[in-house]
Amino acid sequence: MTVAQEFQKANDAYASSFHSGDLPMPPARHVAALTCMDARLHPARFLGLELGDAHVIRNAGGRASDDAIRSLAISQQLLGTNEVVVIHHTDCGMLTFSNDDLRKKLKQDLNAEAENIDFLPFKNLEQSVRDDVATIKNSPLLLKNIEVSGFIYDVKSGKLLPVT
Ligand code: ZN
Repeated sequence: MTVAQEFQKANDAYASSFHSGDLPMPPARHVAALTCMDARLHPARFLGLELGDAHVIRNAGGRASDDAIRSLAISQQLLGTNEVVVIHHTDCGMLTFSNDDLRKKLKQDLNAEAENIDFLPFKNLEQSVRDDVATIKNSPLLLKNIEVSGFIYDVKSGKLLPVT
């Protein structure tokens, strides 16, 4: 069985007891969380989110990339969110490589040119959170004078630690 087939089987069970089909599109708690795609993070659980509560935008590192800003602009302008939470985490894969490392690997493995791509790795976890909070606060596409807070999620303890 492929994983896709396993997913279909799991979904059959999920849909058979699904009763949340009437939720409105705008997030009930008017918040967007930007976090990493890391498989050890379960934002809905560690933030206490129910279905329909929040936008959770995920990418490698939980970085405030152009595409994350795109999603946040849609979230705020069209779906009424007015608070942003940035969550990076301990032991993040983004701490383990440089742009040059990945560019070399892409060249070797795929013969791909990635010299102009910034993969947004980082060396300092707290600073990366501060940088992304600042990017969001300063983006001309995003609301001013709203709460934008930053956290580090500890994959060992499950705790969320504020970054100031
Ligand atoms: Zn990560």
